[in-house]
Amino acid sequence: MVNTQLTPATERGTRTPCIVIVGGGAGGLQLATRLANTVGKRGLAEIVLVDRYPTHFWKPLLHEAASGHRDPATHTIEYAAQARQYGFRFVQGDLQRVDRTRRVAKIGAVLDAEGAQILPARELHYDDLVLAVGSVTNFFNVPGAAEHALPLENLEQAEDFRRTFLAACTKANYQAEEQPGQPVQPVCVNVIGAGATGVELAAALRHAMNQLTTYRFKALVAERDVCIRLIEGGPRILPALDERLSGKTHARLEQLHIDVLTGIRVAEVTHDAIVTATGDRLASDITIWAAGVAGPAMLKQLGDIALNASNQVIVTDTLQTPDDPHIFAFGDCAACPVQGKRGFLPPRAQVAHQQALYLVRAFEQRLSVKPVAGFAFHDAGTVVSLGQAGAVYQTEPSTRSRALIIDGLAAIGLYKFLYRKHLLGLHGTKRTLLQSLSHWLQSRNRPAIKLH
Ligand SMILES: Cc1cc2nc3c(=O)[nH]c(=O)nc-3n(C[C@H](O)[C@H](O)[C@H](O)COP(=O)(O)OP(=O)(O)OC[C@H]3O[C@@H](n4cnc5c(N)ncnc54)[C@H](O)[C@@H]3O)c2cc1C
Repeated sequence: MVNTQLTPATERGTRTPCIVIVGGGAGGLQLATRLANTVGKRGLAEIVLVDRYPTHFWKPLLHEAASGHRDPATHTIEYAAQARQYGFRFVQGDLQRVDRTRRVAKIGAVLDAEGAQILPARELHYDDLVLAVGSVTNFFNVPGAAEHALPLENLEQAEDFRRTFLAACTKANYQAEEQPGQPVQPVCVNVIGAGATGVELAAALRHAMNQLTTYRFKALVAERDVCIRLIEGGPRILPALDERLSGKTHARLEQLHIDVLTGIRVAEVTHDAIVTATGDRLASDITIWAAGVAGPAMLKQLGDIALNASNQVIVTDTLQTPDDPHIFAFGDCAACPVQGKRGFLPPRAQVAHQQALYLVRAFEQRLSVKPVAGFAFHDAGTVVSLGQAGAVYQTEPSTRSRALIIDGLAAIGLYKFLYRKHLLGLHGTKRTLLQSLSHWLQSRNRPAIKLH
């Protein structure tokens, strides 16, 4: 049970309490929308959403944006439009620090591409502050990794990767056209880390390359001229999942002509290679780092709020920090205990989604001064997309005896359903159906992949 009141009315006077949510990602935008639609609508609280970007893009789709399968333009949501529709306030800017004594969140200035100021630095008063700022790539201090490996945290980075990949393929294709019959220098893409993100990205890239050779790079032979390697430090890919699923996925990736290397520790990344712990040098035109995440460095500026070793905010089962009941954290940036077990919940969209729904109920209870029970995560299983080769799904990975593997169309359907579920939470049934129809019509009118 938690302390059940926001700022007590005796302190607040007639002012409506203000709940500031920082981060409009998979969890934060759901929370802002649903809170605005419930307690906001009833005038019980003012809901403010802060994000550094003006638009939202669901992070689990990033590998599809990076491979060119998903056009970001048709899948971004403008925070200002969502705010107007549901009645929350949107503030653009970066949370930089928090003054817990004055209950003020300090938001940095917003600059344009040339560095000129669009908005000044601001202070936002809160009664409760909810942190949903996600995670950043953890390079584990591997020399050269931060300089030479590309992370995949946001749309800019996904687009950056896509352009670099297309440029490398354009060069190779030109070489093949100029010297017909001669072998070309293959384009080498290395994905470091074979968790779900790395596996999905490698599969999506192979799929993309097969499609690109039919549209643009006709002189290239996809599997011969573009080498895609997936490198994992542990003994098997998808280490968090069942061993059978891991083996099956490994075999399927090899059928897709993806080189899967397990038990390989990366000791250094250079501009054109990966150096392993045993001293081997693997050529690399593009290196992507998908080997782990950590909480953003900014979380250290919260004024003595305890963080774990991965720089995530430690929270109790009510998602409040033990140091300050007016600060909440959830999603990737939070270290939330697993009920009845040791350790923390994994950084997954499913966790962020369930925590957002929990917080809506918890705030409703708090505002009605009712006791609030703790958050319990219900694992609905894990789906990993393999692009054209389908998807694999496993129920409750922790309960081996109940592990179930579904693949083929059923798993692809399930994978697509996760995104639709996110949209349903944001737009309701009617708009989601209309959007799905519009996405389908647009996909009939365009090449299957972004070509530039
Ligand atoms: C390629 C890829 C594929 C994935 N696939 C899956 C999958 O299939 N299934 C699954 O469950 N999970 C998947 N994940 C993980 C999933 O995306 C995350 O667990 C989920 O997005 C976490 O949600 P969140 O709300 O905590 O953070 P995010 O969705 O990352 O949102 C964080 C938000 O905070 C904003 N922000 C950050 N710092 C600041 C700041 N200082 N000030 C203001 N705003 C800030 C960001 O702009 C962003 O909008 C995938 C991740 C990646 C990268």
